[in-house]
Amino acid sequence: MLKFKRRFYSPPLICWTGVSKIDKTFSYDLTAAHFIPHKDGWTWLAPQPPDYCAWTMLSMKGEKSFLPPEELKNNITFNTIHFANMRWRLFRPVCSEGILLCGDAAGILDPAAGQGIFNALLSGITVANTVVMCIQESDLAAFHLAHYDDWFVREFEGKVEQLRLYYEEHGITVFGREQGAGSRDKSAD
Ligand SMILES: Cc1cc2nc3c(=O)[nH]c(=O)nc-3n(C[C@H](O)[C@H](O)[C@H](O)COP(=O)(O)OP(=O)(O)OC[C@H]3O[C@@H](n4cnc5c(N)ncnc54)[C@H](O)[C@@H]3O)c2cc1C
Repeated sequence: MLKFKRRFYSPPLICWTGVSKIDKTFSYDLTAAHFIPHKDGWTWLAPQPPDYCAWTMLSMKGEKSFLPPEELKNNITFNTIHFANMRWRLFRPVCSEGILLCGDAAGILDPAAGQGIFNALLSGITVANTVVMCIQESDLAAFHLAHYDDWFVREFEGKVEQLRLYYEEHGITVFGREQGAGSRDKSAD
């Protein structure tokens, strides 16, 4: 409706998450979270001692079983398994006259970035300040909006580089050569 365009920074990624029951056979440290890289994604185990373990998996979109992770395959899984589209994407622009996007509405990275809550808070504060500036200096509203847009893109693209490097270091090869510095992709994701 608002005609914002999506700019993609990763291939299609999907994550699914749930909670499983654990017992003494669970061999991971209960006091820490565990990031387990795979070739085309990762598993994140977050024990909730003494009886539960929350888990999240990320993978390239495609033929998947969407089962709990290998590490918990013999355990009972509680609740519904939730899915989310985690393709890294930025909306362009993130603001126009009368509307400003922030948080996930403006740009999304997958949970491995560990930046979602921080970005939601920081960009929310920055948006609020921008709105105040636009009201106080209405002649300069276009300048303040452009400034916010530029700030958000720089923050986002900086995090894209960090996460891409992190994946490289962990042998996660989700990126094809065509996924460069942000592709404008009109296909449904
Ligand atoms: C499995 C998973 C694990 C994650 N782990 C982490 C982590 O460890 N650390 C981290 O920092 N981030 C993590 N994230 C990301 C983080 O949850 C998000 O980046 C963050 O919640 C974004 O906040 P937000 O306020 O922008 O959007 P949201 O939290 O999505 O809030 C948007 C709100 O708007 C409401 N809404 C939507 N449409 C309408 C409408 N039309 N009218 C009224 N209300 C509406 C929604 O119900 C929702 O409550 C994770 C995400 C997932 C999926």
